[in-house]
Amino acid sequence: MFKGILIDKIDGALNAQISDIDEAALPEGDVTVAVEYSTLNYKDALAINRGAPVVRSFPMVPGIDLAGTVTESSNPDYAVGDKVLLNGWGVGEGHWGGLAEKARLKGEWLVPLPESFDSKTAMAIGTAGYTAMLCVMALERQGVKPEDGEILVTGAAGGVGSVAIAVLAKLGYTVIALTGRPEEKEYLQSLGAKDILPREEMSEPGRPLARERWAGVVDVVGSHVLANACASTKYGGTVTACGLAGGMDLPSTVAPFILRGVTLAGVDSVMAPRALRLEAWRRLGEDLDPALLGSIAEEISLSQAIEASARILDGKLRGRVVVKVS
Ligand code: NDP
Repeated sequence: MFKGILIDKIDGALNAQISDIDEAALPEGDVTVAVEYSTLNYKDALAINRGAPVVRSFPMVPGIDLAGTVTESSNPDYAVGDKVLLNGWGVGEGHWGGLAEKARLKGEWLVPLPESFDSKTAMAIGTAGYTAMLCVMALERQGVKPEDGEILVTGAAGGVGSVAIAVLAKLGYTVIALTGRPEEKEYLQSLGAKDILPREEMSEPGRPLARERWAGVVDVVGSHVLANACASTKYGGTVTACGLAGGMDLPSTVAPFILRGVTLAGVDSVMAPRALRLEAWRRLGEDLDPALLGSIAEEISLSQAIEASARILDGKLRGRVVVKVS
């Protein structure tokens, strides 16, 4: 038996609780991992508190991230004792995930733990941080350079936002942080933001084109914030879109794209190809100051995870949450 969070439907009602789970119930896979750390992402909070549509079958162990040590393997790429991490691939949604002491997975989903990180640091970064890196790499691919001007990071005090600010600032970009929490100004500046912008300035319906300001954008919010970010991006700039914390809609026009040559670059971490993941994790080892993770990430125990997940949905948690699983 091992401990984990189990989400189930009991008489039609969603129930998430710490449970003793029989190892025989683990799903199919060619690698078994003793999970040391997991995390709480926005998606985990949705899974634990709302179930569907994130959870695609019940019962489900949530947790889209995990890091730990291989305890059994019939996969030639992994041996007992190897340190590994996992982000996405539908784990914690359609396949049991990381918020439990054991996980059984497909070896092809795993990434060897980069040498620069231990399990805890890797999970302090987690899917949110790895997605932030994918956004930065997308800006770079589109040719956005530090000398081109300011980069807007939205949802700045959250997980993706915090890591995006830290990485961009270390790379020499001038970062402006859009936040609904002006009380976090000092925190955001400590990560490297030059200034903050109140969320209200971008969350209402705006004009198809606004004053050109941003050379690039990392957006996690969607909806009017994303539409306004596109409308105020400079000629030839790039907006990366990875989230929907403010809504799934995009009430925009084609004006920024056809009149200013703005690029809207979508970023997905869940099914991102292996080569891109390996590169993102390599870059995190190089371009994220590990000292900042201490202020970005808060550690909690598995037994605190359900309560903490509700605070994520209320927008009350700052940065990242690392869960010590075993
Ligand atoms: P967090 O909950 O840590 O952060 C989200 C931030 O968005 C909050 O801290 C808040 O920032 C801001 N926010 C919250 N609610 C609203 C609102 N109603 N309107 C405007 N801003 C709001 O989440 P993550 O950083 O982990 O993830 C952010 C988004 O990115 C989520 O939608 C998530 O699902 C998505 N995501 C997508 C991935 C992908 O593969 N495409 C991977 C990882 C995440 P502040 O208080 O500073 O305003």
